[in-house]
Formats: sequence, C-alpha cells, structure tokens
Amino acid sequence: MRKPYIAANWKMTKTIEETEEFIRSFIPLVKDINDVDILIAPPFTALSAASSLLKDTNIKLGAQNMYFEENGAYTGEISPRMLLSAGCSTVIIGHSERRQYFQETDEIVNKKIKLARANNLEVILCIGESLEEREANKTFEVLENQLAGSLKDLSLDEITIAYEPIWAIGTGKTASKEQANEAHTCVREWLRKNKDGADDVRIQYGGSVKPDNVVELMSQPEVDGALVGGASLEAESFSKIVAGAVKK
Ligand code: PEP
Repeated sequence: MRKPYIAANWKMTKTIEETEEFIRSFIPLVKDINDVDILIAPPFTALSAASSLLKDTNIKLGAQNMYFEENGAYTGEISPRMLLSAGCSTVIIGHSERRQYFQETDEIVNKKIKLARANNLEVILCIGESLEEREANKTFEVLENQLAGSLKDLSLDEITIAYEPIWAIGTGKTASKEQANEAHTCVREWLRKNKDGADDVRIQYGGSVKPDNVVELMSQPEVDGALVGGASLEAESFSKIVAGAVKK
C-alpha cells in the first residue's frame, strides 16, 4: 500500500519568525502520526531556520521551486545544491502558478526534474487542467501531455505527482472525490503504459483541500495524499488534514 503523503505549499507567505512559530506549534500536533509522510515547503528565506527546527522530527522539508542549472550567472535563482545545504529533501516543480506567471513549460519542468533527481532531491511534480480545458473535455489530454513532456527520459524514482486542477487552487472549489479519482486514474494509467514502477508512485490531490474534505478525498483508491496551500498556513488546520489522511 502507498503511504499517504501530505505536503504544505506556503507560496509567498511567512517570514522566518512566522515559519518558526508555525513549526513550534505544529510539531507536537503531529508527532505521533507515523502513517502519513508530512512535508512543509516554506519560502526559500525560511528554509534554513525551518530545517534546524525540523531536525529529528517526522516532518520533511521541501522547496517550492529551483533552477535548472547547477550554478553560475543566474541572478535571483536557486540551485539544487543550495536546497540540499539548506536542509531540503524535496522540491516542488511545475506548480501551476509557476507555469502561469513565470512561463514554465513542460520542457523547463523536465530540465528541472532531471537536475533535481541528479542531485538526489525528491520531486513533487504538479500537473492540472484549467477550467476552459475541463469544459472542453480536454482534461485527460492535458494531463497526458504534461506527463509526457515533464517526465521525458526520466524514471519514476522518488517522484510524486500532484494533480491540481487550476480551477480548484485557492478558489474554495474542490474537485469532487469522483473527479479527483478519475483524474488520478488517468495519471496512473499513463504511468503504467509509459514507465516502470507506476504502482508505487503517490498521486496527491491539490485544490482547496481542508480539514473537512480531506477524509472524503482520501477515501478514493487513487488519492494518495494532498498538496495543500491555504489550509496549510495554520498549524491546527494543517495538523487536522494530516490526521484525516490516515487511510481507513
Ligand atoms: C496549491 O497551492 O498547491 C494549492 C492546492 O492551494 P490551495 O490549497 O489553497 O487551493
């Protein structure tokens, strides 16, 4: 059975002090939950402080993005080695906000994943359709194209897929459990057809996950976890999501 995996994407919120405050209150709330993998992805500036507090806990540290070159004259960018030295085990790649506001294509996402894996960082790859694409019945086609482009020439080792319908991110609109499971099934089938080890890959759902809808979403056979934005910003709310992710 795939172990449930809940990740927090804090986006451009929380200073170092706010990160420390969150982590201090969050650790005791989840310390006895061993059946769920937990990850927090604060902004770059708070990674190092977060790493010190998370040492010897059951909570992993992730970054929200990285660049696709090892080092050099790329002002403002962050390399995988920098993430490792800040204490990250994982990096989120291809979030829809990166694709939408920073013109990240599947080709760029593919380069980033290759470099992350070459540096032994685990990856959460985000994919998902827009509302227009869903309404035009193109959801599966979009997901398959994103998977093919993003995972070109890559194995599935240490890769988690986050299915995040763009229309459900930060909007309060959650995909129904059936919509989530159907999209995850499409992802799983594509992985089975094209890669080895597809059945071990965890597929998270992302899009307005909250304490009161996580149990229903997690009841679906193909939903292995969640990538959470808004509801991960408060320790109590995020701890309830983690607790609700234990598979019954
Ligand atoms: C996200 O940012 O990946 C996300 C799913 O956000 P929210 O939970 O706020 O919809």
